[in-house]
Amino acid sequence: MPPRHARGHTSDVLSREVGYVRKPHGGRLRVALAFPNTYFVGMSNLGFQTVYRLFNELEDVVCERICLPPKQELQAQLASGKPLRTIESDTPVRDFDVIAFSVSFEWDYTNVVSMLRLAGIPVRAESRTGRDPLVVIGGAVTFVNPEPLAPFADVIAAGEGEVLIPSLMTAIRTASDRDDLLRRLAGERGFYVPSFYNVRYTADGAVAAFEPKPDTGAPGVVKKAAVKTTERMDPPSTRIFTPDTEFGSRFLIEVVRGCANLCRFCWAGYNYLPVRAFPADRILELAREARSHSGRAGLVSIALCDHPEIEHILSGLIEMGYSISPASLRLDDLTEPIVRMLHQSGERSITIAPETGSDRLRRVINKTVTNAEILEKTDLIFANGMENLKLYYMIGLPTETDSDLESIRDLTVGMRDIMLAHARPKGRIGRIVASVNPLIPKPGTTYQWLAMEDPAITDRKAKRLRALVADLDNVYFNIKSERHSYYQALLSLGDRRVAPAIEAAERNGGNWRAAVAEAGVDADFYIFRDRSGDATLPWDIIDGGMKATFFRAEFDKGLREEWTLPPKRSAENRKFLPVLS
Ligand code: SF4
Repeated sequence: MPPRHARGHTSDVLSREVGYVRKPHGGRLRVALAFPNTYFVGMSNLGFQTVYRLFNELEDVVCERICLPPKQELQAQLASGKPLRTIESDTPVRDFDVIAFSVSFEWDYTNVVSMLRLAGIPVRAESRTGRDPLVVIGGAVTFVNPEPLAPFADVIAAGEGEVLIPSLMTAIRTASDRDDLLRRLAGERGFYVPSFYNVRYTADGAVAAFEPKPDTGAPGVVKKAAVKTTERMDPPSTRIFTPDTEFGSRFLIEVVRGCANLCRFCWAGYNYLPVRAFPADRILELAREARSHSGRAGLVSIALCDHPEIEHILSGLIEMGYSISPASLRLDDLTEPIVRMLHQSGERSITIAPETGSDRLRRVINKTVTNAEILEKTDLIFANGMENLKLYYMIGLPTETDSDLESIRDLTVGMRDIMLAHARPKGRIGRIVASVNPLIPKPGTTYQWLAMEDPAITDRKAKRLRALVADLDNVYFNIKSERHSYYQALLSLGDRRVAPAIEAAERNGGNWRAAVAEAGVDADFYIFRDRSGDATLPWDIIDGGMKATFFRAEFDKGLREEWTLPPKRSAENRKFLPVLS
C-alpha cells in the first residue's frame, strides 16, 4: 500500500503515526527538518528521527518535518509552485527560521535542490537574504565530503547532532542578524560556513587551498564535533512509529557507535571513532517503552558486537518478545550465544562482509580476519540454526589479481559446503547471496588519494568473476559494474565546482551524463586522477580527527600486506579522535 503521504494528506499521515510532536509556534524558534527523500524512506532513518527528537527536546524550539513528495507528485508540485509545507502543522516551509537537512546519501543531493525549489527558497546561499530561513546541511555526508553541497548551504553542520544542535540553537538565540549568526557559528566547533572561504585552485585544477575571507573569523579548518562519551546518553531510537515506511513499524535503535577495526577503505570505521557504547539498561528501557508499537527490533550499528554487553541486550530483547534484526555483523566478534539468540528471536539469515577471498588481500585492506576464521564462523552460524547467509565483497582493490577473484569463488564454495552439510539432514537448504561492488575510494580513508580503477579493468574483473561463479548451486552473485558507481564517486570525491552538475541533474530528472556535460564538469578528473601529489583535498576543510600522515603510513603498510590490528578497547583508540576535549 502506498504511504498516505503520497496522496498529500498530511493529516492522514499524522493519524497513522504514534510519537510525533505538536507545539504552538508562538515565541519559539521554528525548525523545518528536511529529509531529502520520500517519507517512506525518511521515517526509517534513525538520524532523521533523532535530530527531530533533539530539536523538540528544547523547550523554545518547535521542529516539524518535511520530506520529498513522491515522484508522481513532485513534478506537478514543482510546476504548480504550490509551496512545500510541514507535516505537523501544514505550515509553508518558507515561514520557518531554519531548514535543517539531514543528508545520508550522495544520491539525495539533487533532492536537496528540489526541496529548496519547492519551498520557494533560493537554491544558492549567495542569493539568499536574512529574510530567508537559514539553510543548514548536516548528516552522514558531512563525515565524508560535504563540499559538492557547499554552494547550497548557509552552514554545514559537520559531526554528531547531539553536540551540534545545542550550539546551533545558542548561536541563533544570541545573534543580532544573519551575518552575526554566521560569524558566531564559524567560531563554533563543527560549523562550516562555505561562503566565508575563497577556494584557490592549482594550474591543473586541483584544490590548492581554502582561504578564510578576512574579517569573518572563520578557522583554517573546521573540526568535526563528536560526543566524547555515550555512557549516560540516550541512544538514537525510533520515536515516531508509522506503518508507512520502509522498515514498517520496526523499532530501530543504535547500540554502539563506531568500529574499532580500521579497515583501510571504510569511511564509517575511521569517522565514527572512538567506539562508544550506549548504556545497555537505557537501550532495554527504550525497547520496553516501544514494545506496544513494535515487535521487531532493528539494531543499528556498524559493529554491533563491539558493545561489551551485547549478549545481555539480546537476551533482554528476547525476553520482551522482540524478534531481532541486526545490521551486518563483524565476523571476529560473532559468538555462539549471539548467533543462538538471534536464531531464537526468529532470524534465519546473517549478513557478513569478508570483502575479498584471499588472506593476502585482506591484509592489504586491513580486514583483520582470515579464511580459516571465516569458515569457522560460518560453521558456527549454520550449526546454530541459520539458513541463509548474505555476503559483501568488493573488487577493484589495490594489488588485486585474478587469483584473488578465484579466491572469492573458492571461499564462497567453502561456505556453501558448510551450509549444505548442516542443511541436508534437516531437508531444508537455504542460500548464499553475495553482493560485489567496485571500490569507490572514499574521502577520510587510507584510499582518499587513490584513483578509482580503470573501468575497462573493473569490467573485465566483473566478467571474469561472473564466469567463475556462474554454475554454483545455492549461491547467487549480484556483481555491480563500475558504471553503476561512477556518478556516486563524482559526488563523493568532488568539490564545490560539481554543484552546477547537481543542479542540472535535478532539472533534467537525473540524467547525469547530460548534466555533467551541460555543467562542463570533467567527472574523470575527480574519479580517475591519482591525488597523492595534491597539497589539499576538497574534504580537507573538515578535520575529521585522523591525520594524513597516519593514512599515508597505513597505505604503505597495506602495500606491504601488513595488518594494523584493531585496538579492542575504546580507550586505546581515543588517541585518534575527533572528540571534544
Ligand atoms: S569492520 Fe571494517 S568495514 Fe566493517 S565497519 Fe568496521 S572498519 Fe568498517
